[in-house]
Amino acid sequence: MNFMSKEEILAVHEKKLEEFLRSLELWDSLVKGELKCVLCGVSISVRNIGLIIPSKDNIVVCCSKPECMFKAKELRSDRNEG
Ligand SMILES: [Zn+2]
Repeated sequence: MNFMSKEEILAVHEKKLEEFLRSLELWDSLVKGELKCVLCGVSISVRNIGLIIPSKDNIVVCCSKPECMFKAKELRSDRNEG
């Protein structure tokens, strides 16, 4: 089997990510370094973007740190609890 190199996979991923973020009008903010992790406040780039979380009025992003990803998943599941 022919596997793509890690770099090619990343490139494909980034291209899809860009399309996705552009559709949400978040791409420009990301490129400018204006997007911040909703949990720890670190600047988000294509290298450390973790999750994109649609909420009521806007969309928040979190970084790829395991603890932020974990907390972000809890945020998403809020509506299913209680
Ligand atoms: Zn974070």
